[in-house]
Amino acid sequence: MRRKIIAGNWKMNGTLAETEALIRALVAGASNNDRAQVVICPPFTALETASRLLASSHIALGGQDMSPHEKGAYTGDISAAMLLTVGATYVILGHSERRQYHAESDQLINAKAGQALAAGLTPIICVGETLDEREGGRTETVVGKQLDGTLAGFAADNLKKIIIAYEPVWAIGTGRTATPEMAEAVHCFVRGKLVALDRTAAETVPLLYGGSVNAKNAAGLLSQPNIDGALVGGASLKADEFIAIIKAA
Ligand code: PEP
Repeated sequence: MRRKIIAGNWKMNGTLAETEALIRALVAGASNNDRAQVVICPPFTALETASRLLASSHIALGGQDMSPHEKGAYTGDISAAMLLTVGATYVILGHSERRQYHAESDQLINAKAGQALAAGLTPIICVGETLDEREGGRTETVVGKQLDGTLAGFAADNLKKIIIAYEPVWAIGTGRTATPEMAEAVHCFVRGKLVALDRTAAETVPLLYGGSVNAKNAAGLLSQPNIDGALVGGASLKADEFIAIIKAA
């Protein structure tokens, strides 16, 4: 039985004052939940503050991206070691906004994931098709190619340590959610791809759904057999909404 994971992606939101207010509300409302692993991913600048405020809770912390390099002359980048040093244990990689606005390729995401795993961070690797691709009947081709590229060369030991988030691009921030059945169909496809790589790892890898998850639709999505959690954007910035999603898990 895979434990549910609810991860909040704050994106470029969260001054220190906002971080403190939101985390205090989350800790009060959800920190004693032990049925789901809750992860929040604030911007880099808020990680240390978040880590301090989460110290005595079960809520874990993640970065929203990281460098594929260990250290050195990469202005503006953040390394795996830097994330670990401020208390992060997860990192989101290959979010569609990184792919779209920073031209991130599957090859680059693969290198980042390798670096994250080597350092001991759990990568949450995002895949998902655009509306054109879905309407053109190419969802499985696109998601399959993203999985082949981002997971290339990973041995079973490493596969067991990753999380995959299926996030259809057309559902992110649009209020348009995949139905539980649509999401489950792609999650089954992803699970099948993992089985082809390593059957044992495939059974344990958590598959999260992301794309306009909210307090109303969470329970339906999370009741699907292959939906092991959610990656939540907008709704993770509202304490009540995010706590309701955690409770639905
Ligand atoms: C996301 O950015 O990962 C996301 C799923 O956003 P939203 O929940 O706002 O659609």
